Amino acid sequence: MCGIFGIADNKDASKLAYVGLFTLQHRGQESAGIVTDDRGVLRHHIGMGLVSEIFTREALETLKGRSAIGHIRYSTTGSSHIKNAQPLVLDSCLGQVAVAHNGNITNSDRIKAALQKGGAIFQSTSDTEVILHLMAKYRGKRLEDTLAKNLPKLEGAYAFIFMAPGKVIGARDPNGFRPLVLGKMGKSFLLASETCAIEVAGGKTIREIEPGELVVIEGGKATFRRFARARNFTRCIFEQVYFARPDSQVAGRSVQTARYEIGALLAREMKGVKADIVSGVPDSGTVYAQGFSDESWIPYQTVFMRNHYTGRSFIQPDQRLREFTAHLKLAPIRDVIKGKTIILIDDSLVRGTTSRKIVKNLKNAGAKKIIMAIASPAIISPCFYGIDTPSKAELIASNLTAERIRRFIGADELHYLSLESLVSACGDQKDRNFCVSCFTGSYNTRVDAVAKAYGIRPVKAGR
Ligand code: SF4
Repeated sequence: MCGIFGIADNKDASKLAYVGLFTLQHRGQESAGIVTDDRGVLRHHIGMGLVSEIFTREALETLKGRSAIGHIRYSTTGSSHIKNAQPLVLDSCLGQVAVAHNGNITNSDRIKAALQKGGAIFQSTSDTEVILHLMAKYRGKRLEDTLAKNLPKLEGAYAFIFMAPGKVIGARDPNGFRPLVLGKMGKSFLLASETCAIEVAGGKTIREIEPGELVVIEGGKATFRRFARARNFTRCIFEQVYFARPDSQVAGRSVQTARYEIGALLAREMKGVKADIVSGVPDSGTVYAQGFSDESWIPYQTVFMRNHYTGRSFIQPDQRLREFTAHLKLAPIRDVIKGKTIILIDDSLVRGTTSRKIVKNLKNAGAKKIIMAIASPAIISPCFYGIDTPSKAELIASNLTAERIRRFIGADELHYLSLESLVSACGDQKDRNFCVSCFTGSYNTRVDAVAKAYGIRPVKAGR
């Protein structure tokens, strides 16, 4: 999971890229970078840490130019190191090219090995670098022609923003796993992972980039071009469940609305359950709990005080840090909890270790009974499309029955939302095009080689 942003033709390009990345900070906190086009010379500033720590006023002043692209990273493929921070900038026979990538190229190892045999030298362990090397090897007349030649060689998930002197190009993989939207502000075009970044930067969202589509922004115009036939449009449904900001729009509805409806559907599926209060694990669980409460007439109460300055536990790359921050960030409100039967809603259950701590925390604070409700189905298989879910061995639902999971986390009851309800809440009637592979174990593309590396049995492609 990463966030990408681009803006073309604006005198405040680097500052607006900073605003865009700051708005997307929830998508990754490991590193950030901005590249600008300073009258034909690409300038960059890239660092480890938060956007606000990396980009001082002085750093932004050096990023001159009327176009900028930026990236914030949470590592999925490649280690946590400045070498893998993006945008990547390459000086080659193509001239200067920069790229910001969100996703995971599932055949990158195969392509990399072939390119290395031909003498290519890679600077990073990131899967993103393969596209730059492919572009240097198989060239077209213009950058967009080079991309149209090479993007079809990639498998898996990608939303890209490229920059070369005079142009910014956005591209989305033929399944549309990872999000990419186009916006406009006056004469400037913007590209971003989420609509919230376009709107906070002062623009208006035009539309999503379609699967298998390129948008070339050059000379104040945006032109669209197909580089591959769209396959099953399968946006990652975890955008609505967890990643995206509530004020973003995905598949025609706001993430907030989708989450509220998910909560209401969960209440319908759990009809007849008795409890004193319903609450959510902050932040996303709160909206789910409000939807549940309004549907079930069980009062909503806040049971945890969240410390907002510790980061999001799911996206800390190190297990030791993950446990530490999970403990730090949620403080129980004892008066509300004591003697109560509580329905507690969380967005998902991955390893089970965080839920176990939360339940223990509530019981220690005097809760009588904890009914754990998960706003998504059981995750039984890893994600190969750019989301940092663990291997099958670590995915609790891949190894234990629901009853054993309930016992492991220490809850009195455990409920999951059905897949049908999740999909129906996330898109409107006309648009329910989502990837749900981590709930089904059936994948939308060929992932056998990657699956083997994860130590799981061969998987089916397509659904
Ligand atoms: S496998 Fe799951 S996490 Fe990965 S893209 Fe599909 S829905 Fe999203």
